[in-house]
Amino acid sequence: MSDRSQEAEVVVLGGGPAGASAALHLARNGLPVVLLERSTEPQWRIGETLGPSARPMLDTLGLLKGWSAEGHRVSPGNGSSWGSDPIQFTDFIASPYGSGWQLDRVRFERRLWTEVERHGVRLQLGTRMTQARREAGVWDVDWAGVSTSGSLRASWIIDATGRRGEGVRRWGRGYESTDALVAVFSRGRPSQQTSPDQEARTWVESAPDGWWYSALPPDGHRLMAWMTDADLVRNWPGREREGFVEQLRMTKHLGQWADPARYHWDEAPRITSAQSRRARVAVGDGWLAVGDAALSFDPLSAQGLITALLTGIRGAETSLRSLRGEREAGATYVAGLESIWKDYRRLLYEHYAQERRWSDQPFWARRHRPPVP
Ligand SMILES: Cc1cc2nc3c(=O)[nH]c(=O)nc-3n(C[C@H](O)[C@H](O)[C@H](O)COP(=O)(O)OP(=O)(O)OC[C@H]3O[C@@H](n4cnc5c(N)ncnc54)[C@H](O)[C@@H]3O)c2cc1C
Repeated sequence: MSDRSQEAEVVVLGGGPAGASAALHLARNGLPVVLLERSTEPQWRIGETLGPSARPMLDTLGLLKGWSAEGHRVSPGNGSSWGSDPIQFTDFIASPYGSGWQLDRVRFERRLWTEVERHGVRLQLGTRMTQARREAGVWDVDWAGVSTSGSLRASWIIDATGRRGEGVRRWGRGYESTDALVAVFSRGRPSQQTSPDQEARTWVESAPDGWWYSALPPDGHRLMAWMTDADLVRNWPGREREGFVEQLRMTKHLGQWADPARYHWDEAPRITSAQSRRARVAVGDGWLAVGDAALSFDPLSAQGLITALLTGIRGAETSLRSLRGEREAGATYVAGLESIWKDYRRLLYEHYAQERRWSDQPFWARRHRPPVP
């Protein structure tokens, strides 16, 4: 079936946190928006820790209403064994915004989709852009789904396709990355525990070739991830299920969750890129990138979701201003991205510098070099 010649002011590619927040912010400001999302329903994704400083963004997007009933697990802080063996706990108590959360990502994204539709965004699930041409300040966008296709005319495109970065690859000269971090992760299925696991903090534990982290999203499956470099993971025995549990068992703190009386680790580990990366060009003629499509972060920073929401809002504002003819809007957005990136690189370096025990090992030696501006 073909759906010809729709009109929209803005087309958003990708309905993750960044794309949905951009679409929502535009629609709340009265713009006609079409959101093309590849999936047909929200997918489980790794990336669940949302720090308290997300609260102002959730407020701007109108998401705080009903938030406490959405089932996200309140997280009081972090536990980390980093730089020395004992586990140290840091509470969010010092944060002016209170606690953070371990998100139910499926529920979070479903809520975002409900909100975008409620505000009049045309949400096209199971579709993606196949071609786009820009002439005389207008985009002609072709899109396709499994059994439908169509075209759209729009003034502006927002690339929110996450690490795929469809728009950035087409129009923005690709990416510049600063490391080759990968995550190998698995989810433990809870056993018949006599006292259910209630540990809602994110735990981090460093090791000679990388670091582990663990979180407990609201579905009760314990997430365990091993973070290392792409070259170091090639021969890592934990890429297979049994090896993963064995490696986990060998840790000092997180190994407590390898106990079969607590969790069944019967899921095959998956591997994904977690490298720090930025778009060489994130704003162009009639388009811009938000979220991971613009900047992506090492999960140690727990900055991905917050920045996705923030750049979604800022990207929407930049689109609005550009459509009103404000020529400096794009440059202001780029300066904002640069500032986020610069602060992130400095903080990440400082954080890795606190672990000196394995400075001679490749994983740590690579991270102990100060960032090049
Ligand atoms: C191992 C790991 C752990 C992480 N842990 C955390 C954490 O604890 N806390 C945190 O804040 N962040 C974390 N992150 C980062 C966080 O998950 C991301 O920063 C965040 O999801 C980015 O949101 P986004 O909307 O930009 O992209 P995504 O969440 O990737 O969403 C992109 C959307 O675009 C859609 N899409 C892709 N291509 C197309 C296309 N061609 N057409 C249409 N739709 C398309 C996808 O289906 C998806 O819905 C982690 C990341 C990794 C790798």
